[in-house]
Amino acid sequence: SGFEVFGLSKETLSAIEKKGYTQPTEIQKLVLPVALETDKDIIAQAQTGTGKTAAFAIPILELVDFKVDKSIKALIVTPTRELALQIYEEIKSLKGNRRIKVATVYGGQSMERQLKDLARGIDIVVGTPGRLLDHINRKTLDLSNVKYLVLDEADRMLDMGFLDDVLEIIKQTPETKRTFLFSATMPKEIVSIARKFMKDYEHIST
Ligand code: AMP
Repeated sequence: SGFEVFGLSKETLSAIEKKGYTQPTEIQKLVLPVALETDKDIIAQAQTGTGKTAAFAIPILELVDFKVDKSIKALIVTPTRELALQIYEEIKSLKGNRRIKVATVYGGQSMERQLKDLARGIDIVVGTPGRLLDHINRKTLDLSNVKYLVLDEADRMLDMGFLDDVLEIIKQTPETKRTFLFSATMPKEIVSIARKFMKDYEHIST
């Protein structure tokens, strides 16, 4: 398929094939090489429906060593429960049968269930800002080993008043992590987050 050029593992290639993706989308063509072949942070201007989820999920599945321990290694922050569930499903299907634990953490979902998930060790957490911060304050979410942070639909999180929560979440992650920020538009607050919290980054737009 058109995904062969990226040098992906056979597990990922077979999961992609199972999903019926034959050609990478525009955003995937641009993001995958930078994510997979460099250490750079990424700011990608992409609308929903463009395949941006796989653009960040595939590199995370390829690059993170999920065998080392039970800590959270990747955190995806997204504005709504619906988006969190969609991202969760996409990651679940792209991981195939690899032993990688994925969980969602959003408001309205049972706290007990989330606490149980987090206590048993999760590799990838997909969550909304308010509930993530709630867990951080209760000390039930340890982000000290995060290698990849994704800020999904950053402009929408800003519009929904989540800026301070997102900044607090970023501060709980190690400086050594890589950040991928996706946003449909680039208002000045988003550019300023990038300048302040992201290292050497590549700006990608379709
Ligand atoms: P997203 O923008 O990540 O929400 O993706 C929008 C839709 O496109 C989802 O239903 C994906 O499953 C689908 N999709 C993502 N990448 C591809 C691809 N390379 N080929 C076909 N469909 C895709």
